Amino acid sequence: MPVPGLGPYDDSNIFARILRGEIPCKRVYEDLWALAFHDINPQAPTHVLVIPKGRYVSVADFAASASDAEIAGFVRAVGKVAQDLGLEAPGYRILANMGDHAGQEVPHFHVHLFGGRSLGPMLARS
Ligand code: AMP
Repeated sequence: MPVPGLGPYDDSNIFARILRGEIPCKRVYEDLWALAFHDINPQAPTHVLVIPKGRYVSVADFAASASDAEIAGFVRAVGKVAQDLGLEAPGYRILANMGDHAGQEVPHFHVHLFGGRSLGPMLARS
């Protein structure tokens, strides 16, 4: 579904290509609903991306258009990945960029998991 300010889903985006197996990824977890893999340019000792398998641009798109099973499956995958990576006890951060103001680079909805060190303030002050 087109999202105001974000446009329709672009099947040539890099995560769509990863999902189709056209380019490799360092996979951490996969099930029917989600794929998790290491970010190619890690910004913390642990930096993993979790993406839904469906064609969604943003969280608004995902919330409006995904089925209950897709939403539950994706959220469960995020929690499982955090648990499996040992992030629960020391703590970690999840983050999702949407659109221009957040600097979203890849127009396929995804969640970043950061961990492995103290992560500092939530946002840089500018
Ligand atoms: P965002 O700015 O939230 O859209 O983040 C996109 C993320 O995707 C960035 O952290 C990139 O380093 C990461 N990324 C881009 N291409 C790849 C790739 N081929 N494999 C893994 N991560 C990637």
